[in-house]
Amino acid sequence: MDEAAAHLRAGRLVAIPTETVYGLAGNALDESVVLSIYRVKNRPTFDPLILHTDTAQRLAQWVEGIPPPLDLLAERFWPGPLTLLLPKRAVISDLVTAGLPTVAVRIPAHDAARALLARLDFPLAAPSANPFGYISPTQPQHVLAQLGDAIDYVLDGGPCRVGVESTIVGLDAGGAPVIVRQGGISIEEIATVCPGIRLAAPSALPRAPGELPSHYAPRTPMVLLPTGSPPPQDVADRAALIFWKPEERFVDGPRRFVLAPDGLLETGARNLYRVLREADACGARIIYAYPAPEEGLGRAINDRLRRASNG
Ligand code: AMP
Ligand code: MG
Repeated sequence: MDEAAAHLRAGRLVAIPTETVYGLAGNALDESVVLSIYRVKNRPTFDPLILHTDTAQRLAQWVEGIPPPLDLLAERFWPGPLTLLLPKRAVISDLVTAGLPTVAVRIPAHDAARALLARLDFPLAAPSANPFGYISPTQPQHVLAQLGDAIDYVLDGGPCRVGVESTIVGLDAGGAPVIVRQGGISIEEIATVCPGIRLAAPSALPRAPGELPSHYAPRTPMVLLPTGSPPPQDVADRAALIFWKPEERFVDGPRRFVLAPDGLLETGARNLYRVLREADACGARIIYAYPAPEEGLGRAINDRLRRASNG
């Protein structure tokens, strides 16, 4: 922990565990560090970064405040996989927000991440620790395999508990709360605090690649199958098959994967990126996948599966 903190204070990048995915973290108040985050990920600078800190009290240094009803969401879901879009103070560089007047902020529910953040007097900017557009890392080995040469330190926090990115909520032009990205907290849960909340309409110009049709993607072509449909004819021919749960049609074998062996949405979310990586690395020429049930966390899982199959 001390070593990781020392690297960060010296302006270097450290991969950190969180409950969602591993982050590629650096001092958010240092523009040259922020630039190096974009560079290492090969991420376009129009894709804004999320600030991470350990307490809501410290946030006041970096944002103007938490407007209602986002304050209620913060109270209910922080620490946790919820990111809020808040009016930024001038100390937060346009490089972090891609020129937007709001900055994305979250308090992770991960002991090691929060203990590290508590040691620092600056917030961490931390996108997922993977090359831009590829599958997010949920284990330290995933980070090492792809960015090991480019970063100074990986803080090992074991496998990520939630496994998909945070849910992002902001305000629309009329001040109503909208979900900008589906994630670790389901729409149903958000709606218990903000009744009737809706998904932001996809903007003609995507605000960010998390909203692009192709993202979170394996290198192998991937096709999403309708639930309950039979596997395609060519499935015997070096195709990988990802099932939601063990079912009648499931036959164990090479290139066969299951997202949720127990059928639970939480399990499927936790396994999603690891299974996508395994399917991508198994030598298949194509990956076929069945979606999760379209409810709760399943919506965030299916959102990732759709984008992964739009390569
Ligand atoms: P990640 O790639 O998980 O670090 O999440 C970053 C994502 O947060 C971006 O791709 C955007 O979708 C979203 N985001 C960050 N800041 C803003 C902002 N100020 N306004 C809208 N979306 C934002
Ligand atoms: Mg990402």
